Amino acid sequence: METRKETRQFETEIQQLLNLIVNSLYTHKDIFLRELISNASDAIDKLRFKSQTDTDILGDDAEFKIKISPDGIKQTLEISDNGIGMTYEEVLENIGTIAKSGTSAFLEALEQSKQMETLTPELIGQFGVGFYSAFMVAEKITLVTRSAESDTAVRWESTGDGSYTIEETEKKSRGTTITLSLKKPGKDESDYTDQWVLKGIIKQHSDFVGYPIVMDVEKDEPIPDEEQLKDKDGKPIGETTRKVVREETLNSMKAIWMRDKKDVTDEEYEEFYKHLSHDWNPPLARLHMKFEGTTEYNALLYIPSKAPFDLFHPERQHGVHLYCRRVFIMDNCEALLPEYLSFVKGLVDAPDLNLNISRELLQHDRLVLNIRRNLVKKLLELLKNMAVEEYEKFYAEFGSALKWGIHIDPDNRKKISELVRYKTTRSEDKEISLKEYTDRMQADQKEIFYITGENLTSLINSPHLEQLKEKDYEVLLMADPVDEWVIQSLNEYDGKPLKSAEKGDLGIGEPDGKKKDEYSALFGFIKSQLADKVKEVKPSTRLKNSIACLSGEDRDMSAYMEKILKASGQSPPEVKRVLELNLEHPVMGQIKALFEADRKDSKIKEYSELLLDLAIIGEGGKIDNPSRFSRQVGELMSGALGG
Ligand code: ADP
Repeated sequence: METRKETRQFETEIQQLLNLIVNSLYTHKDIFLRELISNASDAIDKLRFKSQTDTDILGDDAEFKIKISPDGIKQTLEISDNGIGMTYEEVLENIGTIAKSGTSAFLEALEQSKQMETLTPELIGQFGVGFYSAFMVAEKITLVTRSAESDTAVRWESTGDGSYTIEETEKKSRGTTITLSLKKPGKDESDYTDQWVLKGIIKQHSDFVGYPIVMDVEKDEPIPDEEQLKDKDGKPIGETTRKVVREETLNSMKAIWMRDKKDVTDEEYEEFYKHLSHDWNPPLARLHMKFEGTTEYNALLYIPSKAPFDLFHPERQHGVHLYCRRVFIMDNCEALLPEYLSFVKGLVDAPDLNLNISRELLQHDRLVLNIRRNLVKKLLELLKNMAVEEYEKFYAEFGSALKWGIHIDPDNRKKISELVRYKTTRSEDKEISLKEYTDRMQADQKEIFYITGENLTSLINSPHLEQLKEKDYEVLLMADPVDEWVIQSLNEYDGKPLKSAEKGDLGIGEPDGKKKDEYSALFGFIKSQLADKVKEVKPSTRLKNSIACLSGEDRDMSAYMEKILKASGQSPPEVKRVLELNLEHPVMGQIKALFEADRKDSKIKEYSELLLDLAIIGEGGKIDNPSRFSRQVGELMSGALGG
């Protein structure tokens, strides 16, 4: 039978990433070993998970381990595992392409901003590009792997310079062996075939890996008495010890989460996080808890310091693994935390868990629901008690995700509402809490004013806010799409209703009754001209300097929401808005005079359209007929300049 063999090019992104790693992480070379060991440990985890439902899969190879084999003469280092392995297709998919959405866009942006050269490990760390880090120390990588579900093995090889070869081959047992042909170490660089160097790295970075990491170590062992050469008096002659090779386990496998908090150092917590999350950055915060009571379990959770690119990607995996009595059960267990906290990494060890239960059913398991409720509670407490500066860091990365919780987690809505932060018309560049807002509300103010829209600059300059600003009412500026969902669910804070600055009556003043009457005929006319676009034309209490704006009724969809829905391919029902005009603006008086002199003046119709266009432009919207607008303004300018 013919075997498959081919040479392929790396995806452009991979090659870029590879160059980045090799050129900017060179001061962190040692960590390649942690990355390969973490991959090996994940591969065993996966197999173990499968073996729960498919008991035959392990065959006679049920003793899991990761083996490190250095060879000082050949200058190679081998890392092998008896985990799940990969098929030909899986190798193509996993090693050679980038699965993560957003990565290529990010790389492109980096390249354009010319940041590539100064790229820090923190930035690269976000990719989780573990395997490729081996190219920092290897001039060639050979990976031979056999899937637990296949008889054919695969050999993948590359020197990291654009292409790789992949072919079918044979391998006796299941699992993956990675052989690094090491670069010659430079002066002051570590020799990765030296067992002391390897032992040191493993102790530092991979001590708590849950499977034995073993290495054949040469040892001096006493020669057993019966084998010892002796003289006629029974005295030993010659050597009393001999060199033997023994497999030694290099890691303690201590389950860090089962230990007492005070016995675990910050470094240990951090290394464990890196192993677990494949993140190269230290975590922002951690939560280590032992729950005792009707149900007992341990949890060790971490908040990363950087949000992943795919924070809002629907297929993004959750980051909490499930263990039972120190034994790995399941990765990315979505039942343990709600979607809005899916960026949290870590694990839960629940000894009383019913293990004969599928992923889907786990969501409804009473114990799991109980754990989930507690974890959310503790995480929200952790956030609440964070130091201001730390919380600002958290919020900049994960604020949007957290806000989603207001919409989807009614039980914790109130608590999350304590945690949200907004810039306001009075906060300068600072983000404030709703409590800070309500604490400094004006004495007569009953509602919390907000406005939603696409960007902060246009929000803060929005015509809708002119009178509010004039009268010194503070307005929350909500420029995150998720805010539209926040306000749908958060009707009030501390008994104060939330009120859109662009909808309904703001209750901050009435239009002058007499003036209103004077303008009613003109407004009636304008309305008749714009009937298919606006539902009403009325004097504004929002405007101060601008002539016109559009408003809605309290229950109407906001302009921003309409835009978001349209951008995502939906077609929301068309809602006509209210054209508000500023009776204090001199132009309005002039239009009224024109109208009263000759109701048939064709200019009035044109001005009606222009007023609507001005209102739309004032809120950053798109007008129907820009060329007409441009012509009208041109004519007006020419008139004003005496042309
Ligand atoms: P990450 O581990 O962050 O996903 P890597 O580039 O290190 O990124 O690995 C890519 C993928 O290759 C892994 O997600 C896994 O599916 C597969 N892989 C890597 N090493 C092994 C291994 N030893 N055994 C089985 N699969 C592996």
